[in-house]
Amino acid sequence: MIYNLDKIINGKLSADNFLIEVSKKVEDFTNLYNRPPCLAVIIIGNDTASKIYVKNKIKTAKKININSIEITLPEHTTEEDLLKQIDKLNYNENVDGILVQLPLPKHIFTENIINSIMPLKDVDGFHPLNFGNLCLGNDSIVPCTPLGCLYLLKNEEKNLSGYNVTIVGRSNIVGKPMQALLIKENCTVTLTHSKTRSLMEITKKADILIAAIGIPEYITADYIKPNSIIIDVGINRIVEKEKNKLVGDVKFEEVCQLAKKITPVPGGVGPMTIACLMYNTVKASFLRKQKEFKESLF
Ligand code: NAD
Repeated sequence: MIYNLDKIINGKLSADNFLIEVSKKVEDFTNLYNRPPCLAVIIIGNDTASKIYVKNKIKTAKKININSIEITLPEHTTEEDLLKQIDKLNYNENVDGILVQLPLPKHIFTENIINSIMPLKDVDGFHPLNFGNLCLGNDSIVPCTPLGCLYLLKNEEKNLSGYNVTIVGRSNIVGKPMQALLIKENCTVTLTHSKTRSLMEITKKADILIAAIGIPEYITADYIKPNSIIIDVGINRIVEKEKNKLVGDVKFEEVCQLAKKITPVPGGVGPMTIACLMYNTVKASFLRKQKEFKESLF
């Protein structure tokens, strides 16, 4: 299949450009405080995808001179032990950001873990205080994936005011914070989910469609308004012709024909998510030093 390359939103290139700007902030912090920002990442168990995500996060941190600490814990780690680890990091003056890689083993209650991270070190932006501030339209640490999607959208359309946006998927990690961010941009946002009736009728009215469902290639051309912008958040591992393959929640080949712009998988939202984690780490570093963090990148 031949694509019109002009239609593809290159997330890797955007992430690389964004990281150049973030690395300048890393340098500013390092010069001011005689140490680089520091990100601590905790990973529990043996989930293959989680290991790849953590490896990429640490690698990117290193690339832009953010210090990182990787803590690997066995699958049987108790919730109590994990909470103790987080507490140590909360009170470690030299740690600026804490990330606990999700999903967690079933015996650990994710909400307790998210709530235990000091809000100023919560670089995932999942703590209720950060999420509450986002919903109120206040400055906050914003979850990385929605922030990355916003960056890509703003690269395409400087002013998003008045756009009809439909988000498919209402998770706390993607759909809900994405809705809050876009409301702040004066978009008219419809948040849909698995119980939504006549989904296709709603998505067909969207100037911008954001798919965060977790079902491979669920969004076909039938769901799309012609000439709309499509952001595919999905990362799904499938086997095709006996080979492992990554696909999004959007059927890329056919939707690409209709869309004005579309993010590919891989190489779309994924790289921006990691770049925004670096941004959040630097932001958290400055915030804790109670220096004014100048919002020049968004
Ligand atoms: P989730 O499972 O927590 O939520 C999925 C959402 O989709 C739910 O709100 C559900 O109601 C909705 N949904 C399910 N079936 C539906 C249907 N038939 N019609 C309409 N809505 C439906 O998932 P999540 O954590 O938000 O992740 C979604 C996808 O995004 C996954 O593929 C995940 O791997 C990917 N993801 C990618 C990044 C990235 O960096 N690119 C980050 C986070 C998640």
